[in-house]
Amino acid sequence: MRLLALNCGSSSVKFAVVNTASSERIVSGSYATDAGGTGAAIDAVVDQIAGDSGLVAGLRGVGHRVVHGGETFRESVRIDASVQAGIDSVSALAPLHNPVNLLGIRKLESAFPHLPQVAVFDTAFHQSLPPRAYLYALPQALYREHGVRRYGFHGTSHRYVAQEATRLFDLPAERARIVTAHLGNGCSTAAVLGGRSVETSMGFSPLEGLVMGTRSGDVDPGLHVFLAERLGLDLAGVTELLNRQSGLLGISGLSSDMRELETAEASGNHAAGLALEIFCYRLARQVASQLVPLGGLDALIFTGGIGENSARIRRQVLEFLRPLGFEIDPAANAAHGRETGGLVSHPAPPFAGVVATDEEFLIAADTARVLGA
Ligand code: ADP
Repeated sequence: MRLLALNCGSSSVKFAVVNTASSERIVSGSYATDAGGTGAAIDAVVDQIAGDSGLVAGLRGVGHRVVHGGETFRESVRIDASVQAGIDSVSALAPLHNPVNLLGIRKLESAFPHLPQVAVFDTAFHQSLPPRAYLYALPQALYREHGVRRYGFHGTSHRYVAQEATRLFDLPAERARIVTAHLGNGCSTAAVLGGRSVETSMGFSPLEGLVMGTRSGDVDPGLHVFLAERLGLDLAGVTELLNRQSGLLGISGLSSDMRELETAEASGNHAAGLALEIFCYRLARQVASQLVPLGGLDALIFTGGIGENSARIRRQVLEFLRPLGFEIDPAANAAHGRETGGLVSHPAPPFAGVVATDEEFLIAADTARVLGA
């Protein structure tokens, strides 16, 4: 089935036309939103697709990445008016993302009214978390009245990567205990038990958890008032600092980009090396803590731009995790598992591996599944 996947983010609108049967990417691209805003970037995608009548004739549907499904959406759904209203109603939880995702839905609907559309939510896979994992230790009224709880993100990627790992390492599907580490500009882990997410490192927003490109991950909540007073910032200013000036960029003072930091470290830049060490330490600590929800660990899977390509990060994380039984295979790790079916550790549990994720492809595959059902 030939489908268009649309991923409207804050900095770019990415798209791909995918043949889900052959896994072929027919066209793909990305338009930055800095020139004319997100609306203009979406229009550019529409113009590019509509300009190729042969392409349009072959399309069977459109899949949209939607960041937040709240507790309303537990899986991908075909979009109708009530689904649009549902996405709108959780917009307060993701004010920078859901309105943009809705804009994409409306623009594609009016450009291609004959095509069915499907929403694929970042949060849906984590709706299986139990209350002990998703509730904060806050007054419960905040959960009931304002939706304050942990939601988790990157769900489509975690779900796919855990499924692939089960197959690659021949694990028992209904019992496999897997931690997936999605490491891109944003980073999160998921603990996946028998194919269901039982814990994840991101929470109410994508700021919680691991050290990321420009996001701090976990900090003491007491910092907010301290920073506000010391720096004369309002709360929005503090949140901006934690989201955009922290993480790898903040520690290194140099860059949020892993490739640049690895190069800087190799040429002796101490701050870059420290940023990478903290990144690995915090990730390893997070992975180790997943023994609590999983009761044991069969496999740790790395994915995303960093997880798939940085042998240096995987090496240090696995060194920190030696007490859990991980034994890295240095040659396989240096080759990113490409000659070993993804495996970068010794071929005995707990396995460590690399699985490539592809969000636009996964959106298209989920769309095909929903439309076929
Ligand atoms: P996004 O979250 O925006 O989709 P990606 O998954 O593409 O981002 O990940 C981007 C990160 O991956 C950047 O930090 C980039 O430096 C890193 N990365 C990409 N290729 C490599 C590589 N060969 N070695 C190390 N890091 C890499």
